[in-house]
Parts: sequence; C-alpha cells; structure tokens
Amino acid sequence: EMDRQKQRSKKSSASKVHDWVTLKDTAEKFVGYDATESETYITRYRKVENKDGEFYQIVLEESPFYPEGGGQVGDSGLLQNNNAAVEVLETKKENNLIVSLVKNLPEDVNARFHAKVSTDRRHTMANHSATHLLHEALRTVLGTHVEQKGSFVGPDYLRFDFSHFGKMTDEELAEVERLVNEKIQENIKLDEFRDIPIDEAIGKGAMALFGEKYGDKVRMIQFGSSRELCGGTHVRSTGEIGQFKISAESSTAAGIRRIEAITGQKAREYYNGLEEQINELKQLLKSKDLTKAVEKLIDENAALKSENEGLKKEKANAETAQWKNDFRESNGKNLLVKRADLDAAAIKDIVFTLKKEQPRSVVVVLSENGGKPMITVGVSDDLSGEYHAGNIVKELAKEINGGGGGNPGFATAGGKNPAGLQAALEKAEQL
Ligand SMILES: [Zn+2]
Repeated sequence: EMDRQKQRSKKSSASKVHDWVTLKDTAEKFVGYDATESETYITRYRKVENKDGEFYQIVLEESPFYPEGGGQVGDSGLLQNNNAAVEVLETKKENNLIVSLVKNLPEDVNARFHAKVSTDRRHTMANHSATHLLHEALRTVLGTHVEQKGSFVGPDYLRFDFSHFGKMTDEELAEVERLVNEKIQENIKLDEFRDIPIDEAIGKGAMALFGEKYGDKVRMIQFGSSRELCGGTHVRSTGEIGQFKISAESSTAAGIRRIEAITGQKAREYYNGLEEQINELKQLLKSKDLTKAVEKLIDENAALKSENEGLKKEKANAETAQWKNDFRESNGKNLLVKRADLDAAAIKDIVFTLKKEQPRSVVVVLSENGGKPMITVGVSDDLSGEYHAGNIVKELAKEINGGGGGNPGFATAGGKNPAGLQAALEKAEQL
C-alpha cells in the first residue's frame, strides 16, 4: 500500500511536456538589458501538464523577460494586444531558450504582442546592484578572503553567502552597511561591458565566481570600483537603490556566512515600522526619553523583587513557627510530613531550620510549583546512620514518576506526575 501511495504521488507531481509548436522560424533574443518592454511575436509554444494543472510555455522573438539565473529570480509580467492579455507567471532558461510560463494561450498566437515586465523587476534590479556593492564592502571591511558562495536576488530582499570564518561583529555589519549606503549616495553610474573577452575583464579586476564556467566573451558590470562578471539586470546608477539595510547575518555551513538585506521601499518600510514602535513605547511609558524610562522600570522591578523576596522569607518564617508544633512521634523519632506549595528556596530554608531545632527529626515537604511536583526531605544530624534523606526521597519520588537525590541530611526530587503527591504523602506518613 505504501508503495502504491508513493507511486500515485509521484505520478501526480510528474509533469507531461508536449512537443514544441513552431510558429516563426527566427532566432530569439533577450532584450531585457536595455528595456523592460518590447513589441514582439511568439515563435513557439508547447503545453505542459503537472499537478497544478495545464500551462503553456512560450518563447518570444524579442523577450524582455529575464530568465532565472545567477541568483536572480526570473521575470513575470504581461503579454498584451487589443484582443488578448496573457499573464506571464515566470521565466526560465532551457537549452539557451528563454521560456516564459503562461496559464492560457492567446486566441491568435500569431498576433503581435506588447510584452511588459512586471514592476517587481525594478526592485529586483536594485537588489542585484546592491549585492555587488555589498560584495565589495565585505571585502573592504573583512578582507579579500571574502568570496561569493551563492546569492538570491528577488524583488523583496537579497541574500548573499560568502566565505568568512566567524560571526561578523555589530561594528563590522554597521561599517559594511555604511559603505554600501555611501556608494548609493554617490549615485555611481552603471558601466556595462557586453561581450568583452574574459581576459580583458579579469585584467580590469573583475571578480569572477569561483567554480562558475564562463565563455570567451563575458559581460562585466561596473559601478565605480566594483567590477563583476554578471548576467543579471541592474539599475542605471546606484542612487536608484535608495537605501540599504542588513536584516540578518547568519551561518549556513562551516566557514560560510549569510547576509540578508533589503533596499529602497522595503528599507523605508522597515525604518517606518521602527519609528512607529518607538512612538508606541513612548506613549506606553509616558516618556520621551525611552532609555531613561526603561532604566527606571528596571530599577523599580529590582526593588520590587527584593521586597517580594523579603515577604516570602517572612511568610516562610511564620510557616516554620507553625510547623514546629506539628511534629509527631513515629518509630522512635519526630516526624513531620507537610503539603505546602511554596517555592524550592523557601522550602529548603524551612526544612533546614526545623531539622536543626528539632532533635531526632525527619521532615518531608511535598509541593507543586508551576505544575511540577517536588519532594524535599531533611534528616537531623543526630539521626544520621539511621535515616538517609537521599534514600527516602528516592523511594517517595517513585510516586510522582520522578527521581532525585542528595546527602544523608538533605535531599530533593522532582517529578512528572503531580497527581502522585498524595500517594507520596501517605507513604511518608509510614516512615
Ligand atoms: Zn551580479
């Protein structure tokens, strides 16, 4: 049955890909470096079926849609003319073809279309250019051992993995952020070098990705002193990034760190959110000086805590005074068994006081604190040799599914079953 289930789920997720239908036998090309719109035709399409339903893959003669690659997400957008509007869901590269996914084909597949990339791409470009600036800033702040190990560039945020041992300090993160924002402020113009010989690019100091295969001709993206071999899409000048804010720093593997960051509108939203939060806190604390107000709260809290401790001690002392009268004779000693839901420290105080004041005594206290049962046993010094607190508590703890131990004079045990405290109490009365 398991196997059949597996087979079924395999079948349902598998996709069926039909043959290409060729409409126009011309070479397709990517025009998305220069434009986010184009007037174009569908050159071929094919149907694909998977668990999400039926779709069509289309190839455009002049596609402005960037195909997923180099860490950058693929474009979505719209294909439109007077008679049809088709939403482009995603774009990928397949055997050098730029393949866009659509839900339905337009009625007239031979018509001319206006292809338009979604506005998400603007944010993606800002994030991609920001990863280049981030890369350079990391090498400046941490050292040239920093190498790119991976990246993700989407419209909402960017992620950059790089080689570096050890967590980055707050100061290093702040300095990297400052450097990137400085470059944004300088509004450095994009210099794009298309189809230049790889040797020339490397000669100019372009950073290549370790382990990445490059052709003889490469594309180099330069923002001032930042030069990278890159196939992605970028802003025309760094000012378009607006603002850069690191949102997280973490580790993905030994020697690999990850930085996540936001830019532009997302960064502004982040700061707006912070401001709102601060204003709420100011209202809550009824103070314009948050630091002062919180310091005051901390002081007050400490004072209350110590006052509370004092009160607890007083209460415990009062309790002890009461309990002194409750010892009874049992098997040649003075036995006291009590159920009292005090905290562990208070019980310890009481037990030590009682066993010191009462000769030949065994004290057992059963308590529950925050749903956790506990048993505390004290044996006076003059009974050592006859009774062992550790052994007694071990025996009683069986009733509360617990364990514990201690020395001959004092022992405690915790457990998992508060309902067993009554049985433990009855057992203790037999001592
Ligand atoms: Zn890049």
